[in-house]
Amino acid sequence: MLKGKVAIVTGGTRGIGLAIVKAFLAEGASVALFGSREETVNKALEAIKAKTPDASVMGLWPNLGNYAEIEKAVQEVKAHFGKIDILANNAGVSARESIYDYDPAAFDKVVNLNVNSVFYCAKAVAPIMREQGGGSIVNTSSMVSLYGQPSGCSYPASKFAVNGLTKSLARELGKDNIRVNAVLPGVTRTDMVAALPKEMVDRIASTIPLGRVGEPEEVANAFVFLASDKASYITGAILSVDGATQV
Ligand code: NAD
Repeated sequence: MLKGKVAIVTGGTRGIGLAIVKAFLAEGASVALFGSREETVNKALEAIKAKTPDASVMGLWPNLGNYAEIEKAVQEVKAHFGKIDILANNAGVSARESIYDYDPAAFDKVVNLNVNSVFYCAKAVAPIMREQGGGSIVNTSSMVSLYGQPSGCSYPASKFAVNGLTKSLARELGKDNIRVNAVLPGVTRTDMVAALPKEMVDRIASTIPLGRVGEPEEVANAFVFLASDKASYITGAILSVDGATQV
């Protein structure tokens, strides 16, 4: 579905991001994964190469809170692969603090990664996509962007903002044939969820109509579809991949 396409995946070293990288590669894309540290990027690249030695993949570790670093990394990807067709804005951190104990600097940190990096990466790739005649941006939001959550208010606030960026950039960039969509994972089996108490995860799973939490690969499949030409008339969509979770 992605033969000949070039993609950037942020937060591509583990969890949902790594699943997106693997799915994009399996569908024929070349992929640049962005991680936070050189060691984790190299570890992810080694794991991919061990299973698929011919994979067309590279890795970089720009500070996603810094526009200049992102722009430089995006230009490096373009120089390496010749173009950029797909951006998966996936890197993100969650939060659980109560507002009573919440250090404002910690709030800013969540917003800086979850919101600003989405804007920075989109800003850096948009001119390249426009020049090429189009592209697809897919943002990782969350089911909490529909419901909020009872603590860690920065996290749902940041994901509401991701939906807002998705809807707005879809309207702004449609004329340049750049589609912008968001995927809203429900509870998905990654490190982010492994950090939660098991009883909490089991309790949540028992309330999900499909009776279980999601797998990263199931979220990645939605990215493949939205990134592909099969979704050529879909933009501004907010697609839940959550087993119909109702909070
Ligand atoms: P994860 O913690 O396993 O992975 C997060 C990724 O983001 C990692 O690759 C990490 O390197 C990257 N990252 C974190 N901080 C970074 C920083 N400062 N700079 C650069 N990269 C950084 O989490 P995950 O569950 O795979 O989450 C991926 C995305 O999915 C996030 O945006 C998250 O909000 C969203 N999400 C996850 C779930 C879930 O249940 N797992 C549910 C809804 C949404």
